[in-house]
Amino acid sequence: MNRTPHSRPTLGDAEVRAVARVLSSGMLAQGPEAERFEQEVAAALGRRHGAAVSSGTAALHLALLALGVGPGDRVLIPSYACSALLHAVEFAGAKPRLVDVDPRTFNLDPDALARRVDRRSKVVLVPHMFGAPADVDAAVRHGLPVIEDCALSLGSEVTGRTGRLAVTSFYATKMMTTGEGGLVAGDNRRLIEEVRELRSYDGRHRHRTRFNYKMTDLEASLGRVQLGRLDGFVRARRRLAALYREGLQDTPLELPGEVPGHVYFRFVVRAPGGAGHLLRALAERGVDARRPVQKPLHRFLGEPGFTGTDDAFRHAVSIPLYPDLEGEGARRVVSATREAALELYG
Ligand SMILES: *Cc1c(COP(=O)(O)O)cnc(C)c1O
Repeated sequence: MNRTPHSRPTLGDAEVRAVARVLSSGMLAQGPEAERFEQEVAAALGRRHGAAVSSGTAALHLALLALGVGPGDRVLIPSYACSALLHAVEFAGAKPRLVDVDPRTFNLDPDALARRVDRRSKVVLVPHMFGAPADVDAAVRHGLPVIEDCALSLGSEVTGRTGRLAVTSFYATKMMTTGEGGLVAGDNRRLIEEVRELRSYDGRHRHRTRFNYKMTDLEASLGRVQLGRLDGFVRARRRLAALYREGLQDTPLELPGEVPGHVYFRFVVRAPGGAGHLLRALAERGVDARRPVQKPLHRFLGEPGFTGTDDAFRHAVSIPLYPDLEGEGARRVVSATREAALELYG
């Protein structure tokens, strides 16, 4: 049987040519391609400045350091999110302060956030889960700097525009890719200069602890081609989401909310009987579905009381959706999911 993988990058000849051009130039490390790439991505996020780095986690880490986060500080992060957020907060020397999420939107719950902000809170980190814009204004209202994490929402018309800083990731299966890579964007030149200052250790006169977080020109050349295709990727993802909705609306599965600006990085359904049965039923039909968050952060930290997150984790199933699936692949995903849902709950 032909298996449908859960995710896959969309790559073509233009990407191959761009990387080959940098290879044959003999200049592989960070250089002019990375500089152009960071300007172009910042513009795509509606921001004035950008600093390219080696990963989304590095972008989060340096964004926190640029905002002055350090020991004794608390950074608010959702309990239902990629563990990269937790790692970045800990690398900055700060303590994570977990906030529960809305189990239907999978995004930070503004009321839960209001309950968790305290005197030691320094920054709020807001990811746009699975491509659906979160309520950034609700976070900004607390008067703390907000970092928008656009790793899953790059290409949306509305995310990345509001927070003090916006970060993103270009990992292989994100909205667009450089293999590994990330970026910090913002309108405040000093903050972005600070990220540039911290991403490399070389050629400095004044010593401070730095790391090597640079993006290479090889990666950036790939990223520039991908960025040129991003709007097309988003349109394809939205067409697929509409097709999935049409094909699944009369099943007992709960479908993702139709939020303006959603880019459908993931198409996450809620399985009434819990994720496990649906995952197995889809696997039997050749469809590689996943839990979109592998383990909630409060379970890593042994903290009780995150009922929205537990609810999300129990029910959420991500079914394959990416530009390459348009056509036959998408029809297979819809029919397998329909069959599985009707068998389980019909
Ligand atoms: C993937 C991801 C990251 C981390 O990015 P890497 O490039 O893998 O380090 C951070 N935040 C979110 C929301 C992500 O999905």
